[in-house]
This record gives sequence, C-alpha cells and structure tokens, in this order.
Amino acid sequence: MIQFKDVSKTFKSKGVTTQALQHVSLTIDDGDMFGVIGFSGAGKSTLLRMVNGLEMPTEGHVEINGQDLSKISHNEMRKLRKSIGMVFQQFNLLDSRTVFDNVAIPLRLNKADKDKMHKKVMELLEYVNLADKADAYPGQLSGGQKQRVGIARALATDPSILLCDEATSALDPETTESILQLLERIHKELNITMLIVTHEIQVIQRLCNRVAVMEHGKVVERGSVLEVFSNP
Ligand code: ADP
Ligand code: ADP
Repeated sequence: MIQFKDVSKTFKSKGVTTQALQHVSLTIDDGDMFGVIGFSGAGKSTLLRMVNGLEMPTEGHVEINGQDLSKISHNEMRKLRKSIGMVFQQFNLLDSRTVFDNVAIPLRLNKADKDKMHKKVMELLEYVNLADKADAYPGQLSGGQKQRVGIARALATDPSILLCDEATSALDPETTESILQLLERIHKELNITMLIVTHEIQVIQRLCNRVAVMEHGKVVERGSVLEVFSNP
C-alpha cells in the first residue's frame, strides 16, 4: 500500500517559489491500477517521484507498506527502490548501449550473478517481444520498441510497484494501444501495483480501476474510474 499523508511540496529556485503539491492525501492499494490525471504542471510527476524517493515532501509523509520514507535508512531506501520500477515518457535509454545492456543496467547495479543476469535479461526481452533486438541500439528502434525496452528494464528487479510517467505520451495512437496492452498484461500476470500518470483521459479509462484528478497541486476529485468519469 502506498499512502500520501497530507503531503505538500514547495520548490524554491532562483527566488521563485512553486507549490507543486498542496496537502495531498491519497491511498493506493496493493494491486491497484491507479491513474493520476491532470494538465501539465498539476504536480503529477512530483507525486509519482515521491514514491521512489526521488523527491521528498516539504511537509507530510509518504508511506509504503507503513514505512515512512523520510525515516528509513539509506540501505532500506536502496532495497525499496529495487522493488519499484519506473517507465518514462522519453524512454530514458542509453543510446550508446545495446538493448540487452539497457535492460541489464538495474541487474548490474544490484551485482547480479552473470549467468542469472543473462537469463533474466533474455526472459524480459522475450516477455516484451524484443528478443531479436537484443544486440540492436536504441537508435535503430521505433518509439514503441524503445518503450518496450524501457518497460523490460523497469521489470528487471521484479518490482512490486510500477510507476509510469506519461508512458505513452510520445507515441502514436496505434503504438499507444500496444503499450497499453502490455501494461495491462503486466498488471494481470505479474500482480504489480501500478501508478499511471497521464494527461490523457483515454489511457486512464482504458487501464485504471481508480483515479485521482489533480489541479494546481491539489487532488480535486478521486474515486473509481466509472464514478469520476461518468457525467451525472
Ligand atoms: P506535472 O507532472 O503534472 O506536469 P510537475 O509535478 O512536473 O507537474 O510540476 C508541478 C509544478 O512544480 C510545476 O509548476 C513545475 O514547474 C514545478 N516543478 C517541478 N519540479 C521542479 C523543480 N525541480 N524545481 C522547480 N520547480 C519544479
Ligand atoms: P561486461 O562486459 O561489462 O563485463 P557483463 O560481463 O556483466 O558485462 O555482462 C555479460 C555480457 O553479455 C556483456 O558483455 C553484455 O554486453 C553481453 N551481451 C550483450 N548483448 C547480448 C546478447 N544479445 N546476448 C548475449 N549477451 C549479450
């Protein structure tokens, strides 16, 4: 379970103060496919990045399975990050590395045994249907293929939580659909809790069971996708 408890976040840079989040409280249950929707600047990415400790609240607390992220040790944070995968809008692949090596990055960081790592990477590439591209470089792939590499990399450490930050926003509608199908399959087959940030309502309607709507750093509406998107 992921809990935001009265979380606020203020950024200060060059004399400009931005209230990215204001008193956000939110619970995401295990197994949820949870959507966060809102316009650009609403605070969605900041919220997402707090789940793996990339941002810390200025006020309030973020807890995962009851553990307050501001109170855990460096070592516990490393362990937690291993259990959380992240998928990005711009894929964030290393262009100078092969597909194989991109997917292997988290395993190398965790000093995985070489044979096991090799087996795991090839399994992941098969899962996302890219085994034949193991030796290709990102520059040789389509956007959808790049995102499948990004997804394979995010799954490398067998996470229990997957964070998706505008994962389909750089893709055309057809490719978007294939990535949404993959995310759906991952949710079903691997039993992973997913937090999906997007500005596209159809992504939420297609995938999510629950949703929070954000505006100017606040959650202005929340509930089941059916409740929130049905017009009374
Ligand atoms: P969204 O993901 O909904 O587009 P963000 O969480 O990226 O929104 O941003 C929320 C607000 O916080 C925006 O006004 C953004 O400019 C600001 N912001 C985000 N990150 C930083 C940062 N590192 N420094 C300063 N301001 C930031
Ligand atoms: P390093 O070469 O830095 O010592 P490792 O020995 O940890 O890296 O990794 C095992 C090797 O498998 C790496 O050299 C990696 O580049 C290589 N490899 C890359 N692509 C493939 C592939 N498609 N099939 C098998 N092995 C690959």
